[in-house]
Amino acid sequence: MTGTVLALAGGVGGAKLVLGLSRVLGAGELVVVGNTGDDFSHLGLAISPDLDTLLYTLAGLADPSRGWGRENETWKFMEALEQLGGPTWFRLGDADLALHVERTRQLAAGEKLSAVTDRLRKQLGVATRILPMTDNPVRTRLRTSHGWLDFQDYFVRLRCEPVVQELNYVGAEAARPLPEVLDLLADEKLRAVVTCPSNPFLSIEPILAIPGMRTAIANCRAPVVAVSPVIAGQAVKGPTTKMMRELGLAASASAVACRYADLLDAFVVDEADAAMAAPEGVRLVTARTLMTCLADRRRLAQIVLAAADAEADR
Ligand code: GDP
Repeated sequence: MTGTVLALAGGVGGAKLVLGLSRVLGAGELVVVGNTGDDFSHLGLAISPDLDTLLYTLAGLADPSRGWGRENETWKFMEALEQLGGPTWFRLGDADLALHVERTRQLAAGEKLSAVTDRLRKQLGVATRILPMTDNPVRTRLRTSHGWLDFQDYFVRLRCEPVVQELNYVGAEAARPLPEVLDLLADEKLRAVVTCPSNPFLSIEPILAIPGMRTAIANCRAPVVAVSPVIAGQAVKGPTTKMMRELGLAASASAVACRYADLLDAFVVDEADAAMAAPEGVRLVTARTLMTCLADRRRLAQIVLAAADAEADR
């Protein structure tokens, strides 16, 4: 089947499946909507961690072990900053720094984040369109055992240690989805919407919190398929299951499915979770969902597309 596939993604987990989808789909058939709730201003620079992870992953520049930043990075800037007594809790490699400086320059010249991101991905030779969830500022904040925290304070400075009690996507209510995303969702030729295996609270729900997004996805004619970021009660990386427990939810794939059950046609879970009960109206697909190499990413992408095409045929 052909047609455009729209993927919703955060950083690490999302980018893994996005890479697989980009390798099995034709040029121009994949559009990614990336979370910008993690964005922040640091050292006067506009930083978009999830967009950058998507960009670096698709450009083949990502560091495979760290999960952020570029491979073969050098750290002269950080060393010099430390010597000057500047803040070093958020690490910026020398080549990575160039991206933030250039994005900040283009934004200061009055460009929208979507236009800047599109120019950067073309410069890096990425064929897949990467769109921010909105051009308006949205900032994820967390109420925790340490009080209200900005996302990067929680995630990087405090290493996700505080207990999370509540989340707020500041600015989301006044934000607008990108018109091209709404057009795509209304397009009869849309093949599928794929919710990547990303943190529900920190990556997917900020996207769905943009007014109009959730309804546009619910009303689109294309099948909506999500992949669980939780395997046998564990997150592969990051605080997903820790946060689920702290928020009083079960740390399970099933609890993730319940967050978007109203949108989903199919939910892809790991073989380890094959016994899970699917929410009503959601078809369960089991697969090996741990992506350790490129072949895993491609295989899972093919399973997700087959699940979507099967739903479209029903
Ligand atoms: P972040 O924005 O960088 O935190 O990244 P995401 O929100 O996109 O991804 C974090 C989620 O990805 C975590 O819940 C992980 O469990 C999940 N994840 C990472 N690698 C994999 C994988 O290989 N398979 C699956 N199913 N989930 C993964």
